[in-house]
Amino acid sequence: MPHTVTLIPGDGVGPELAQAARRVIDASGVAIEWEVQAAGLAVMEKEGTPLPERVLESVRRNKVALKGPITTPRGGGFRSVNVALRKALDLYACLRPCKLYPGVRTRFDKVDLVVVRENTEDLYAGVEFEAGSAEAKQIISLAAGKIREDAAISLKPISAFASERIVDFAFRYAVANGRRKVTAVAKDNIMKATDGLFYRTAREVAKRYEGQVEYDEWLVDAMCMQLVQKPELYDVLVMPNLYGDILSDLCAGLVGGLGVAPGANIGKEVAVFEAIHGSAPKYAGLNKVNPTALILSGVLMLRHLGETAAADRAERAVAAVIAEGKHVTYDMKPDRNDPTAVGTQEMADGIIANL
Ligand code: NAD
Repeated sequence: MPHTVTLIPGDGVGPELAQAARRVIDASGVAIEWEVQAAGLAVMEKEGTPLPERVLESVRRNKVALKGPITTPRGGGFRSVNVALRKALDLYACLRPCKLYPGVRTRFDKVDLVVVRENTEDLYAGVEFEAGSAEAKQIISLAAGKIREDAAISLKPISAFASERIVDFAFRYAVANGRRKVTAVAKDNIMKATDGLFYRTAREVAKRYEGQVEYDEWLVDAMCMQLVQKPELYDVLVMPNLYGDILSDLCAGLVGGLGVAPGANIGKEVAVFEAIHGSAPKYAGLNKVNPTALILSGVLMLRHLGETAAADRAERAVAAVIAEGKHVTYDMKPDRNDPTAVGTQEMADGIIANL
């Protein structure tokens, strides 16, 4: 039986990357029926919303989607489709594996980290009060001289419920993928209430996995230094939303940058696989950018679907092309103006030839 998967090509460089990823996944030997659903800028013009209900319905029905990036216009325009999608489908876990493939130019020999980021609360909950608003004044009055009168306020909710489910997700991921250690990252020396709750919850969850997976804790600032000095000491990292956003970009940088960093947003029933990077509008339609991040997101999707052999084959083919360094896009060459760099589809062709 083929798997039915929703394919959201997105906008900007999304459609060309989606085409490249789709071709590689199809060539890995797995049978997938793609249900293509347009979303993003062009859809906004035609249908009045960048994320029509039909897209959500398709993802809910198929339970799995591969998604290209979607532009969020700055200042005004529509709210982020990416955030709306994660909210509507309660995709509470953001998974970002950062693995160094030989041939990628970086400062490190070995990096194989997985960042698990909580996706639904923290400073991303969107509970914000403008300076001078009645709500801001009310909170200031409760804070006994700790907040200036002219302050704007963003709230940082951290719940036991969301902390438990994200840390448990990290441990389940560790067990299922033969990982040895989960590190919880926050800053409870300063945020005793919120980050304190996160760590206390994490310790409780860790007890359930004692003897199977190690557990340790780092403060987020110290963790940043550890990661740029000794990334090989760490394995699965779990953290609240904002720290996760920042550290996953840091970790992507350790393994060669945005062009090679895959990701997934996972909920109880539904999972959406997408690269970390955005729609890179200035490169749209140029057949120029690196398809690796979306292809590796597709590899994560194959693993999620239980298609381990096809996932292994596709990942080996990607690794072989990177190691050879010939059929790679401009960002993987020593010099960005290297005339031997190939285009998006040609890199996909090179990967397919290795399958
Ligand atoms: P971006 O990731 O789109 O691009 C930044 C730069 O990174 C590019 O100019 C390019 O030099 C490089 N880059 C990105 N992807 C690459 C690839 N595959 N290969 C080679 N180089 C690559 O970030 P941005 O410019 O900040 O955002 C552009 C738009 O994308 C914004 O509207 C933003 O909101 C949106 N965005 C969407 C998502 C998503 O869909 N999940 C994620 C991030 C940003």
